[in-house]
Amino acid sequence: MRVSAEDEQFRARIRDWLERNLAGDFAALRGQGGPGREHERFEERLAWNRHLAASGWTCIGWPAEYGGQDATLVQQVIFHEEYARSGAPARVDHMGAELLGPTLIAYGTPEQKRRFLPAIAAVRELWCQGYSEPGAGSDLASVSTSATLAGDHWVITGQKVWTSLATAADWCFLLARTEPGSRRSAGLSYLLVPMDQRGVTVRPIRQLTGTSEFNEVFFDGARTPHDMVVGAAGEGWRVALATLAIERGVSTLGQQVGYQRELDALIATARRTGAAADPRLRDRLARAWIGLQVMREQMLAALADKSAPLADEPDPAAASVVKLLWSRWHRELGELAMAVAGPSSMLTRLVQAQPLQAQPLQAQPLQAQPLQAQEPPYDLDDWQRLYLFSRADTIYGGSQEIQLGIIASRALGLPREER
Ligand SMILES: Cc1cc2nc3c(=O)[nH]c(=O)nc-3n(C[C@H](O)[C@H](O)[C@H](O)COP(=O)(O)OP(=O)(O)OC[C@H]3O[C@@H](n4cnc5c(N)ncnc54)[C@H](O)[C@@H]3O)c2cc1C
Repeated sequence: MRVSAEDEQFRARIRDWLERNLAGDFAALRGQGGPGREHERFEERLAWNRHLAASGWTCIGWPAEYGGQDATLVQQVIFHEEYARSGAPARVDHMGAELLGPTLIAYGTPEQKRRFLPAIAAVRELWCQGYSEPGAGSDLASVSTSATLAGDHWVITGQKVWTSLATAADWCFLLARTEPGSRRSAGLSYLLVPMDQRGVTVRPIRQLTGTSEFNEVFFDGARTPHDMVVGAAGEGWRVALATLAIERGVSTLGQQVGYQRELDALIATARRTGAAADPRLRDRLARAWIGLQVMREQMLAALADKSAPLADEPDPAAASVVKLLWSRWHRELGELAMAVAGPSSMLTRLVQAQPLQAQPLQAQPLQAQPLQAQEPPYDLDDWQRLYLFSRADTIYGGSQEIQLGIIASRALGLPREER
């Protein structure tokens, strides 16, 4: 990565801002939140995220007219590096800022851009992603949620599942079948739907970590105005795939920088406990470090390949390589953390009377409640939480088997698998 004097000034600017602003009430937020820990001080992190936005530090790669800074790719990398280095809390605006925003910039109408992008950049509105359904996960083209145009509104009926942060979201971008009788990827539309209305019910699902970041979302005659379609009606598949490529590629930049902190902390733990004296663990730690360098280079190469990080058509195979690399690496880091922690990593303390088994996943769903109130029923330490949540890395955003399939057909030109 070639860093100019101007980029170094940019680095000094964001570093200085973070140092000055992660103070007072915000100082206590350092290290809070993130995958498996979204319940941690959610409201305070939202306030922090808005504070970040007020100084223009949320969607820095976006055009200035939509609330961005027109930052170059190098500057975006620098921003993520400095953000992670400072220990600033995990942001709550990921879905809007990293997934929907870039999709709207590429595919939205001028009105949609004006209506939604500034609100995302200012963190006035939070979003969730309504793709997966009970019968449509890896096979996303099997979506059966329907939307029918009735007058000047779409009426939406169906069920989504594994919808992250839906309890906190104001809006959902979702995939629905708008042409009755259509099959597979034809006849689908990409709709923007307000969450706060009769006809939308959110039920949290309890995860391995004991927290409930993802949810079932039921649409029962929910409504959204007719012009809330991104791309043409019936042609949502292309838009949905673009969001997925963004999700698998550029958007993970910040997340990967955070991995360096986790690895550094694990190495420090291994030194402190003496685990680093075990030659097998030393070997695995060194391999993890190498893996991280390879991943970073791969990510930068994939991004540098494009004329702009928000290019209309991100290369799906390159995005799949990035997703495969980080998800496997991070899952292995979770396993390594357990090995470094040793046998005590198998123990935890119950902090609520109700054990996990008393909450069947779907038969008796939990009451929807603010994320902050969703304390886990047992005390996990950072390594246990990392181990448990990283099992999900090779599933969400498209499972690793699906990424291998995309690489096989799109990068290697092998025949597509039969369904
Ligand atoms: C933490 C987390 C957060 C998530 N957040 C969201 C969200 O916000 N919004 C959203 O819409 N979804 C979300 N998801 C859902 C996620 O996208 C799906 O779980 C994923 O696409 C897999 O779908 P599935 O769970 O239905 O599994 P399935 O598709 O049923 O797959 C089950 C297994 O079969 C394998 N498999 C399936 N098809 C093939 C094939 N053709 N070849 C080889 N193997 C195959 C898969 O790799 C997997 O191992 C989230 C998931 C997790 C774990």
